[in-house]
Amino acid sequence: MKKSTQAVRAGTRRDKNMGGLNTPLLSSSAIEYLDDSEVRYPRYFNTLNHDVVAEKMSVLESAEAGLVTSSGMAAISAILFGLLGTGSHIVLTEGLYGGTHALIVNELNRFGISFSFAGNDVESIEKATGSDTSMIFVESPSNPLLAMVDLGAVAAFARTKGIITVIDNTFASPILQNPLQHGFDLVMHSGTKYLGGHSDLCCGAVNGPAELIGMIRDHAINYGGCLNAQDCFLLERSLKTLELRVTRQSDNAGIVAGYLDKSEHINKVYYPGLENHPGHDIARRQMQGFGGMLSFELADDIDPVSYLRRLKLVNCAISLGGVETTICQPVATSHQKMSEEERQRLGIAPGLLRLSVGIEDAEDITADLLQAML
Ligand code: PLP
Repeated sequence: MKKSTQAVRAGTRRDKNMGGLNTPLLSSSAIEYLDDSEVRYPRYFNTLNHDVVAEKMSVLESAEAGLVTSSGMAAISAILFGLLGTGSHIVLTEGLYGGTHALIVNELNRFGISFSFAGNDVESIEKATGSDTSMIFVESPSNPLLAMVDLGAVAAFARTKGIITVIDNTFASPILQNPLQHGFDLVMHSGTKYLGGHSDLCCGAVNGPAELIGMIRDHAINYGGCLNAQDCFLLERSLKTLELRVTRQSDNAGIVAGYLDKSEHINKVYYPGLENHPGHDIARRQMQGFGGMLSFELADDIDPVSYLRRLKLVNCAISLGGVETTICQPVATSHQKMSEEERQRLGIAPGLLRLSVGIEDAEDITADLLQAML
């Protein structure tokens, strides 16, 4: 079935009591177990509303199994602490969400896990890999510069070494990119973004082979980052419109990027759909659209904070992927915890703004972005 059908139909269990079309919201935390083949409990990631939404995500990501978690960071930490341990080494691409970067640099050493950062190209990843490397973690498109990683090339390299590959697929969503089809082992999302899509949910998801998901789940039960039934229910509802929303957001972003690229008030636009973007060819090959995220660097004579205050329609807000267009300054938000030196090295300047394009009319969004430059 096509993505739009999967998004609406997969996983849903009809309400047997009344014949309702939707999965009923079952919020019980005490569940009888004598006649069930497994003991069910919210923290065990196996209640009805959890199973339904995990199954929908598995279908959308072409995965055998999945878990939904209480945040994107809970998904990342469940993967890392579920599969790595003392003596493990992980290679990560350097174009990472600031929170992921903070988790790596502040926490891993405390548990005896070592790490190396690599560029986004496979050669650089190969160079950073050692005999003790057991995981490669990438983000593509990356936050906030939309760098692209060649997933097929990285997966092929990792397979020869028996290394587990993991991708943060948040920016693409399962509608535009399915990393497991390119050979990756695990895919995770901050569901707070496109999956939820209405800026009212905090959740995460991880999908992959049943064996790996089972190992992650066994440890995640101890860490406790499960998603409650009400939020699983809301996430299932949100996912039904995922294809519609993401397609519109991606189309809108292409239009907005085209206008911004021509503006004399902007130094540079980062959008994989633009031919001048270094990851354009990779994006063409491995994505089914270029996505709803873009970043741009204002001309040096425009103060970024004053610019943000002049916007009338676009909201200056943290997070992304909602139906409304939002914008933020990474140095003050997603990459605030990164050192100034590291940000400079990666090209995250104070004038860089990250735009999450919503489902409003593309001309209205563009008009607001341009009027605030004057
Ligand atoms: N990955 C990416 C690409 C993100 O943008 C974010 C949050 O902004 C996260 C992971 C973390 O997700 P959460 O805030 O849901 O924990």
